[in-house]
Amino acid sequence: MEKVSDQKTAGAEKKKPPVIEIKNVKKVYRMGSERINAVDDVSFDIEKGEFCCLLGTSGSGKSTLLNLMAGIEKASGGAILIKGKNIRKMSEKQLAKFRQRYLGFVFQSYNLLNSMTALENVEFPLVFKRIPSRKRRKMAKDMLIKVGLGTRINHRPKQMSGGQQQRVGIARAFVAKPEIVFADEPTGNLDTRTTMEVMKLIKQIARDNNQTIVMVTHDPRLADFADKIIHILDGKIQSVELIEHPIDEFESEKESQESAATKEKQENLTMPDTKNSVQENTENSGIPILENKTAVENETKEEENDKQKTPEGNRPETAKNNEPNKKAGRRKGKKEESSL
Ligand code: ADP
Ligand code: MG
Repeated sequence: MEKVSDQKTAGAEKKKPPVIEIKNVKKVYRMGSERINAVDDVSFDIEKGEFCCLLGTSGSGKSTLLNLMAGIEKASGGAILIKGKNIRKMSEKQLAKFRQRYLGFVFQSYNLLNSMTALENVEFPLVFKRIPSRKRRKMAKDMLIKVGLGTRINHRPKQMSGGQQQRVGIARAFVAKPEIVFADEPTGNLDTRTTMEVMKLIKQIARDNNQTIVMVTHDPRLADFADKIIHILDGKIQSVELIEHPIDEFESEKESQESAATKEKQENLTMPDTKNSVQENTENSGIPILENKTAVENETKEEENDKQKTPEGNRPETAKNNEPNKKAGRRKGKKEESSL
């Protein structure tokens, strides 16, 4: 039915093309006379349904690479194919449509609209998809229930904890069932326990819907959630690591998602009365499409804080080239307990 356009591997067995193909991608920033090679000739693939983690220390180029892949920033060279389409060749309008249709985003600083309730925030991406309001509301509500916020739908961001706000952020990113979700340090502002809950939630929702996740982190412990880890240093790929997860691992994650609802009930008992503490801050809010610059700027600022708070981890190197290195049966159980 469809023609295979890329015939570079003649005779290779028929296999679905990767959902994301990064080919010799570069990003150069110019600061006066200085050139910063933030992303330096990077190539790799991400398969559909894969949980891929971009792992590296602060300043290694992770966010830049993610932003290039998400069409938030423009590459200086190379090809970025998403679902076989080179996003570098799209017009702004085509790119915006493409992103609305296929991509979702989760940010470290949540980027929720403070004047809107949780429900309205989650509904927001559906407005652009022209989904009728009644259906929109139901989808958003169902999604909030799924992330364990069924009794918080009318809360505003300032009336929720960081973990709850990020769960709203996750609900917003996933509500339209995008094929790919990009997440830049999504747990960067959360404590250890909440971090693990949020990670499991992201992973479980993505797994249930066969969605692809591309997540940036500097924390090697979080990379253990991934199927593929791209190690980045100075804008270059150091190694690509594949992780095989034991099947039973995901069963327990399902339980954890179910426990979100239980936890919420407990929180209801302890949560103080919500005062009207809402402050509009349009600069620090909004969805990615409208607020790209701000999102990136906020993220950078907060990463600076991170540098002081959290020791940057270095995962032992597994390969010196871009050849995937398969690592079997790594268990994340005991790692979750360690402090971040
Ligand atoms: P990471 O997310 O891994 O911490 P970044 O992608 O934010 O790293 O940054 C990679 C490099 O590019 C850093 O040296 C950073 O200072 C530089 N950089 C990032 N954004 C800009 C920008 N808008 N202008 C100039 N340099 C930038
Ligand atoms: Mg970053």
